[in-house]
Amino acid sequence: MDYKKLSDLIFSDVKLTKEEILNKYPQRQLKEGAKVTRIAPSPTGFMHLGNLYGAIIDERLAHQSEGIFYLRIEDTDKKREVENGVETIIKAFDGFNLNFDEGATLGDDLGNYGPYRQRQRQETYKVFVSELLEKGLAYPCFCTEETLISMREKQGESKENFGYYADYATCSKLFVEEMIAKIESGLPYVIRFRSSGSIENKVKFEDLVKGKLEVTENDQHVVILKADGIPTYHFAHVVDDYLMGTTHVVRGEEWLATLPIHIELFNALGFKRPKYLHTAHLMKIDEETGNKRKLSKRKDPELALDFYHEQGFPVSSVIEYLMTLLNSNFEDFRRANPDVSVNDFEFTTKKMSSSGALFDMNKLLDISKTVISKMTAEQVYESVAIWSEKYNKDFHNLFIENPKFSTDILNIGRGGKKPRKDIAIWSEVKEYMGFMFDGIFTPDYTLNETLKVDAKAILADYINIYDDNDEQSTWFDKIKELAPKFDYASETKEYKANPENFKGHSGDISMIIRVAVTGKQNSPDMYSILKILGKEKVIARINKAMEAM
Ligand code: GLU
Repeated sequence: MDYKKLSDLIFSDVKLTKEEILNKYPQRQLKEGAKVTRIAPSPTGFMHLGNLYGAIIDERLAHQSEGIFYLRIEDTDKKREVENGVETIIKAFDGFNLNFDEGATLGDDLGNYGPYRQRQRQETYKVFVSELLEKGLAYPCFCTEETLISMREKQGESKENFGYYADYATCSKLFVEEMIAKIESGLPYVIRFRSSGSIENKVKFEDLVKGKLEVTENDQHVVILKADGIPTYHFAHVVDDYLMGTTHVVRGEEWLATLPIHIELFNALGFKRPKYLHTAHLMKIDEETGNKRKLSKRKDPELALDFYHEQGFPVSSVIEYLMTLLNSNFEDFRRANPDVSVNDFEFTTKKMSSSGALFDMNKLLDISKTVISKMTAEQVYESVAIWSEKYNKDFHNLFIENPKFSTDILNIGRGGKKPRKDIAIWSEVKEYMGFMFDGIFTPDYTLNETLKVDAKAILADYINIYDDNDEQSTWFDKIKELAPKFDYASETKEYKANPENFKGHSGDISMIIRVAVTGKQNSPDMYSILKILGKEKVIARINKAMEAM
């Protein structure tokens, strides 16, 4: 009865009842086996690859089973929160087409199981804290910061476990009347959970990736409600995932250590526990030491999700790559089904590795080249236009000035059985095709010593024979015909048989034309480039090159 008095005193402002809350969160009516998953980031302003890695698991588990995938904002830690943190989360995920069914959005929350922002759920948490208080399973703790620090020092000296437990949980020993008196005298307090666990005991637990585990029972009287009435992660996790009907919790393995707390809280509240999947950290090979290490916020720009947007990685490339990290059989699937959607692959937790996934930027770039090579020129054009508008405005203006011109360039070497794989990220497009735009054409006319000698004369002749109506074969034949006039072999074969008889071969003549027109030694197919530039520009560029040579 006294505990009821204590609870009424602490929560005099709470109007909601447990029944009202439970009625607000009815059991979800979903098909048998449908999974309900969520991603629950904190608005710290930093969205990283691990968030996306987890979100893909959540999304696949939910949508493959016709379940629900939602976004919950865990904003219980004011100290770590940054301005616009929620917006950062939503925008970062938005860019990766995650398709949330419910949750926080830039506007109002979407769905019937909200609010989906923890600070808006304070009254709900209090109702469940008060239930624990009434049962004597929670209590107010008045220990000051100084008391807790000196307790910790003592524990360190005597080599005992750190924390608030057993005899160290001094406030748990207060009589209810003493608690009430302290509260009435205005002392600040937090609410702690009264653990009945012991570190002598083990709890059996099955993680979907790590398999069967035995964890040590919790004995810590953790804080569940802070002095400002906001719950801790532990308590909010248990209440929210129960009420919102989460069936599978996917989260980083750093939470394994506190899992025993969550298990005990679920039991104390009489809630059915979701299944858990703790993901291993993303690792990389350190360039300096050659050793494997965790991706670090400080050292590795590629950890931040913004990096992928800024560099212009197609969303599908990043997802495709993460899928290769997530499921060991994805690459075989892809080889057998090169053209189907990534969502046709059946993702399974059974094929996930329980040790850390190794992130490899080169592999991601490689995959991205393949992904882009399969796009149509129009798709590439659209994506580059969107990316450059945000990240490279100068190039954007040139790029969109004549959409057909840009699309034609992007179409070179595309569509066949073996499409070219020149572009891995949108920020490379300027380097790839920038030479086509007079406004940013900065040619480098460097040629080797032999070619340099004849270049001008060859170009002067070439201007006379170049006809932009020529078919590709005629165009190439003309170059071959030009070769002998300057002591170059028409055919490479011929040159290889008697190199001493020639200065070079027709390929060298092409190189001179390439360097004159594109200002570089490597470019996509020359014939296509000349066609796209058109006669006038080609002649102007050759003249410009001759002047410079
Ligand atoms: N807010 C927690 C985090 O950002 C979420 C962990 C969870 O998914 O339960 O790490």
